[in-house]
Amino acid sequence: MKILIADDDRVSLLYLKDVLEDWGYEVVTATDGKSACEMLQRPGAPMLAIIDWMMPGMDGTDVCRRIRETVKDRYAYLIMLTSRSETEFIVEAMNAGADDFISKPFNDEELQVRIRAGKRICELEQKLRIKATHDALTGIHNRGAIMEILQKEMVRHDRNNYPISIIFADVDHFKRTNDVYGHLAGDAVLCEIARRVAAVLRPYDALGRYGGEELLIVLPACTSDGALEVAERIRKRVADSPIATDFSAISTSLSIGVAVAGNGKTISVNQLIHFADDALYRAKAGGRNRIELAPT
Ligand code: GH3
Ligand code: MG
Ligand code: MG
Repeated sequence: MKILIADDDRVSLLYLKDVLEDWGYEVVTATDGKSACEMLQRPGAPMLAIIDWMMPGMDGTDVCRRIRETVKDRYAYLIMLTSRSETEFIVEAMNAGADDFISKPFNDEELQVRIRAGKRICELEQKLRIKATHDALTGIHNRGAIMEILQKEMVRHDRNNYPISIIFADVDHFKRTNDVYGHLAGDAVLCEIARRVAAVLRPYDALGRYGGEELLIVLPACTSDGALEVAERIRKRVADSPIATDFSAISTSLSIGVAVAGNGKTISVNQLIHFADDALYRAKAGGRNRIELAPT
């Protein structure tokens, strides 16, 4: 696990760094509150931070308050480290958003068990967050999570005016698959479809299960040509080879609707979904295992 330590006193900082590295933690350091905040706000930031109270500029309580205000998509476990030990300071630090409080000079064993307690909370929070945002069957984003990603990307799209595309994909005649091979085989087919779709996406695209056998894919900074290319790769990857299950090898396909927000026109999330849904409907009506682009 990665830990951030923030202290303006370089001797204390290096001592603590050595101690934590001896215990097997990966350590990143900051020597003032502002850079500590920036490091905790970045994607992939350390989950746990040990923050000195007295620092020039932003002090430790300022860092705690700022992190609580700005970091919403994961939990940062914040331990305040200070030479102050009176109850009023503990109360002040925890009111500012600290999870724990350790007085300097610290006892190594005490610090170690407090970090371990913090690590348990971080790991539990991470597990719960993954459960709350991912589909239990396929492991891809659930509907709430993929819609949140889409909302966020639409805000960025409005601000930066780059195109954003979405793909709506629905498994063809999936009821028949269930009826013929059973629901467990149907489940296995859905999992493999999700895996095949994920395999053709770019790292910054997002894939979610919108409903039963409907997938929603968000493609940031992607024009209609780009989205049609991705859609064709998806269509081909799913239809080209049957899916091996415990019951039988099952051939399947997707009908796909593509919609693009761009061309300087303002469009809401609901409108974009509606356009992709219409295009999907046309792909179904046009014979399935095919792609339709929504007119813009
Ligand atoms: P179409 O080509 O028109 O989309 O036909 P379809 O049969 O795929 O569509 P329909 O909406 O009639 O049926 C969807 C089926 O998907 C019905 C439902 O039982 C099944 N389904 C939804 N979620 C799951 C799931 O998690 N596992 C399994 N095995 N089946 C599911
Ligand atoms: Mg279907
Ligand atoms: Mg459907």
